[in-house]
Parts: sequence; structure tokens; C-alpha cells
Amino acid sequence: MTAASPDALDPRKAALDALTRLTDAPAAGVWSSPGRVNLIGEHTDYNDGFVLPLAIPHRTVAAVAPNSENVLRVTSTFADAPVSVALADLEGLFPQARESITEWARYPLGVAWALQAAAPDAAAAHAAGLDIAIASNVPVGAGLSSSAAIEGAVAVALNDLWQLGLDRPALARAGRRAENEAVGAPTGIMDQMASILGAADAAILLDCRSLEVETVDLGFDAAGLTLLVMDTRVQHSHASGGYGERRASCEAGAAALGVTSLRDLDINDLDRAERELDDVTFRRVRHVVTENQRVLDTVRMLRSNGPRSIGDLLLASHASMRDDFEISVPELDAAVDAAVEAGAIGARMTGGGFGGAAIALVDRDRIAEVTDAVTRTFVERGFAAPTIFPVTAADGARRES
Ligand code: ADP
Ligand code: MG
Repeated sequence: MTAASPDALDPRKAALDALTRLTDAPAAGVWSSPGRVNLIGEHTDYNDGFVLPLAIPHRTVAAVAPNSENVLRVTSTFADAPVSVALADLEGLFPQARESITEWARYPLGVAWALQAAAPDAAAAHAAGLDIAIASNVPVGAGLSSSAAIEGAVAVALNDLWQLGLDRPALARAGRRAENEAVGAPTGIMDQMASILGAADAAILLDCRSLEVETVDLGFDAAGLTLLVMDTRVQHSHASGGYGERRASCEAGAAALGVTSLRDLDINDLDRAERELDDVTFRRVRHVVTENQRVLDTVRMLRSNGPRSIGDLLLASHASMRDDFEISVPELDAAVDAAVEAGAIGARMTGGGFGGAAIALVDRDRIAEVTDAVTRTFVERGFAAPTIFPVTAADGARRES
């Protein structure tokens, strides 16, 4: 097993060190926001449905100092050089001129741009030049949303320093706008809500239509359970065709059935859907409709029967993604099967699919057993070694100091 403990790198120290390389000014403060995993509810977000993510202990940290040059200067521990933009130029930068700056810097600068638009009066009064140093121990591109973590850390920092007075959902919306328009990635708002609003030993139930959020106690700690993240290290990319194709199928299915979005259907509509749709579109629709129901059932089961009762829902979710939505890969299926065989209560792939990570709900004293079983299976199948690590549900965005 390759260990990737959140302690492997102290992002707070790394961010402060990076800040001292950027400026002589002392830090005005340090802010952070976590990565996330989705417990259940996949490809439901853009269908106006339900998702149930939780924030993880891995965090992205922003250490910030003022400058007197009216520029935003950002640096990251995984970039070679800082990127500078005059505050006065920010408004004209996004979305039209975004190609003029290096991709990673569009995340923090895009957040600054979106926040200015969200609170124009406060920004006009208080926005001032800042040096921002970013460090993170959220694995990038593993489906754990390093993108929402960087957005959340910068959003809470600027909200405080520029006295914008925005509430947390508004910060999440600004993060999403940055990702959609400044970066150009057509993603929903789940990641930002989970990162910014997460809470210890709790998940966030998000209604992607109303954007209402509810905190749902998981009770994993008291039950002696933990989530194992099993990163297959198969690279997923939203830019590749699969994600867009699934979105298009969902839209086509909703249109053919005469509803605004698949959220408007329930299990009772599936017979009609099967009669009226071609086989592939029907199976795409069935995944979304049943997955929405599974999210609501998971919340109900957590509340009535506790966390040990949700294993079958996790497994049904995986089967639906594998067979109906067809977004799994052999590595994800192998991780799920091996984890369950080794005693996991439930397991499923998580995130957009075509690679990335799976999760398994396991007794704390079985972590080593499940980890070894999955690792062994990957060796036997000739897959690259997975990265496996436990996560607890952690607090969302916060000021560190
Ligand atoms: P995921 O969110 O699943 O990790 P994304 O492709 O959505 O993957 O986001 C990853 C991108 O976010 C990176 O390629 C980089 O541009 C940006 N990013 C994430 N974390 C950092 C960081 N600490 N410093 C700079 N850029 C980051
Ligand atoms: Mg992302």
C-alpha cells in the first residue's frame, strides 16, 4: 500500500513558507478548505437531484499578506512562478481573456473575480492588493476535488480580508462560477458546497435544484466505522467525451419524457420510460432516477437505523453506475468487489467515473485487512498499485490563524 496520510505534508507550514518567499510582509491570516468525497448521489447534480458528499481531512491552505501595489499575486507549491494581476484588470480577465493566464491560477484569481461580482459595493470599498500562497495535501485529479478546496480556501480568505460579508452558500456559488467561467469546467455546485459547509462526522445533503443544504449526522465515529478511499490512479478527465455524453443522454431522456429534468421522475415512471426510450437512454435515466431515491433512502437509513444499514445502498449505487450508467472501469469494480469480500459493509465508485477513486465503509479494525485485500487484487490483475487511505468527515472551510 502507498500511504497518503493527510499528515504527509503540513500544508499550513508549506503555505506560510511559500508566502515568505513571495513577500517580506507578515501573514494577515491563514485560511483553509478541505477536499471531499461523495458518499452517494452520482451524476444526479446536473439532473437537479440530490447528492450526499462529506468533507475530508485533506486541506488546501491559503496564507495571505497585504501588498501596497494593488495587485493580486498568487503562488502555489506546485507551480514554478507566481502569477500577478492588477486588481483593476481582474474584471476584464474573465471569462474572455482567461487563456492569457496559466490554468491553475485561474482558480484563485477566478474566485477573486467572482467574489467582486457577488459583492460589488463591499469589494469597491475594501478590495486591496494581496499576496496569496497556496499549499495543499488534497490529491489532485483523484476525484477528491482539489479544485473546490483551492476555491474554498481563497473564497473564505478574501471574504474576511475584503469584508465582503457573503454567507457560505454565496462563497460556494462564487467558487462554482470561477470553475465554470474562469477555468471553463462545466461542473455543478456539489464540490464547493461540500468543501465550504462540511462538518465533523457529518455529510451534506444538497438539493441541487433549490440549493437547500442540510447537515446529516453520519455516526461513523460512534459506530467504529471509517471510510476508506481507494484511489485507482486511473486518470479521469471531464474534458474527455464520456461525461458530456452522459449529460446529453440525460437531457435527451428528460425531453423525450416531457419533464424539465430527470429530477421530476420517480421510480413509478420507469415503466413508461422503458416503453418510450431506446435501451441506452432508458438505462441512463434509470440510473439517475434510482440514484436520487438511494440518496434519500441513505439519509433516512442513517437517521433511523444508523450507518451500518447503508451498505446495500452503496452497493446498489455502484451496480447502477457499472451496468446502467456505464461509467465504471475494471479497476473500480475490482476495488469494490475486493473490499466487500474482505468485510467492507458497502463500497462504490465515487466521483464522475472513468477512473478516480472508490470508497468502502469499513470497521476501523478491518482497515488493514481490506487495504491488503484490495492491494493484492490489483497486483493479481496487473493493475497499477492503488493509493488507499482512511478518511473521517471533517470540518469545512475555516480560518486557521
Ligand atoms: P479534482 O478537483 O478532482 O482534484 P480538477 O481537474 O477539478 O480535479 O482540479 C484540479 C486542478 O485544480 C489542478 O489541475 C490545478 O489547476 C487546480 N489546483 C488544485 N489544487 C491546487 C493547488 N494546491 N495549487 C494550484 N492549483 C491547484
Ligand atoms: Mg474538481
